[in-house]
Amino acid sequence: MNIRSALSIGNKILIQNDIISHKLDSELLMSKVINKNREFIILNLDKKINEKNFHKYNQLINERSQGKPIAYIFGKKYFWRNEFLVNEKVLIPRPDTEILVEEIIKITKNKEKLNVLEIGVGSGCLLLSLLIEKKYFKGTGIDISKNCVRLSRINSQNLNLEKRVKFFISDVDNFNLGKYDLIISNPPYIKKLDLKYLDKDVKNFEPMLALNGGIDGLSAIRRVIKKSGKLIKKNGLLILEISFNQKNEVKKILKKNGFYINKTLKDFAKNDRCIVSTKI
Ligand code: GLN
Repeated sequence: MNIRSALSIGNKILIQNDIISHKLDSELLMSKVINKNREFIILNLDKKINEKNFHKYNQLINERSQGKPIAYIFGKKYFWRNEFLVNEKVLIPRPDTEILVEEIIKITKNKEKLNVLEIGVGSGCLLLSLLIEKKYFKGTGIDISKNCVRLSRINSQNLNLEKRVKFFISDVDNFNLGKYDLIISNPPYIKKLDLKYLDKDVKNFEPMLALNGGIDGLSAIRRVIKKSGKLIKKNGLLILEISFNQKNEVKKILKKNGFYINKTLKDFAKNDRCIVSTKI
């Protein structure tokens, strides 16, 4: 069996299972099996693959057919400038979240040393990307999930950031340590009843803990804002990722808790995705 025939079989199975990115995924999975990059595969279609690798390839095609995201199959995902280890206990870093990194870098251009807290740190992609960009920032990441904290810690070590960041397994309500210049959070914000409409890859594989925002989708956001009001320094910044339809509600909650709304940002699909606010 050569690579071309194997790809064609894999691709066909992914199509039958409604995997939209079937062509790319069939190539990526091949690259994983034979441990070469995608370019090698495209340039070596006539190369033979052995029985054992073809079997492995079929297994991965099968996993992907059932909706398992490529990031979980590979155990890693690229975000901003680096690769982060991920597993099924953490939300896969989203390109839309990179908008927060970009914005934070912009608005902290003239700030050297900030003490940053991330509430719900997940894989650590947001906080660690920021620490890479801003050499004198110090970070604290909290998460209710011990798996997330474990993974964030490993990711921080892989990026040589472990001296500048601390992680705690904690619920936002029970965290009372320190005062921060900047607080960031991408909390679970999907309405409980809308979870069933998520893509099957998301709904069946990603952790509900990172997605479920309760009955109105705002239950975690409310707790994050309330606690941030206590943990943030005066004039400190609170930057939140939100759902496309939460802007007005979240603005109200922020104002009630003593925050001034600086601006809101849209994601790549032109949906509201981020709110920047300042504690007054
Ligand atoms: N943006 C994610 C999604 O649509 C949701 C992330 C979250 O709830 N914070 O799948």
